[in-house]
Amino acid sequence: VELLKEKIRQDGKVLSEEVLKVDSFLNHQIDPVLMQEIGKEFVARFSDQNITKIVTIESSGIAPATMAGLILGVPVVFARKRKSLTLTDHLYSAKVHSFTKNESNDISVSKDFISNEDTVLLIDDFLANGQAALGLIDIAEQAGAKIAGVGIVIEKAFQPGGELIRKAGIRLESLAELQSLQDGKVQFVGEEAF
Ligand code: 5GP
Repeated sequence: VELLKEKIRQDGKVLSEEVLKVDSFLNHQIDPVLMQEIGKEFVARFSDQNITKIVTIESSGIAPATMAGLILGVPVVFARKRKSLTLTDHLYSAKVHSFTKNESNDISVSKDFISNEDTVLLIDDFLANGQAALGLIDIAEQAGAKIAGVGIVIEKAFQPGGELIRKAGIRLESLAELQSLQDGKVQFVGEEAF
């Protein structure tokens, strides 16, 4: 977690009071060593759960999710952002309003890949208003899967997503929690602005 915070301090770009850009290690270029550490941390935090599958959303959730899946030796499923035109009856779908793009998309997962025998860990890169995570929760519930919890790389704690997920009774583990992005500065929860 310290390594992640260090990376955010060094390479994170505050685009606005609400958006942090981390293109150099998570959203465009990927730092595999950091991703591996992130995967390990998720696995450690959910070690009491018998996880059978990791579920994420394309594309930026895939790297951290894959690392967790590699360590656990379980498959990683990524929800796709557009419905394929065929076989829509064979999909679990949920509507997700994108925070960064300000548009609504359906995300979907084939019924082949999640079932009521699964215990799923849901992973995503950022948590803002919680729509992406709630969409994944919705899909897992449609499949009848048990939800071990939600793992987030960077939670913007000043936005409502975290509270929504906890209120839904779902365990949330965020590796870095941002208190604010005011004045172009990153402030982590419990720390001075950097
Ligand atoms: P939510 O659904 O929680 O409102 O937003 C989460 C999704 O929006 C994540 O999957 C992530 O891709 C994107 N997102 C939200 N806030 C940020 C941000 O500050 N920076 C980046 N790079 N992506 C964000």
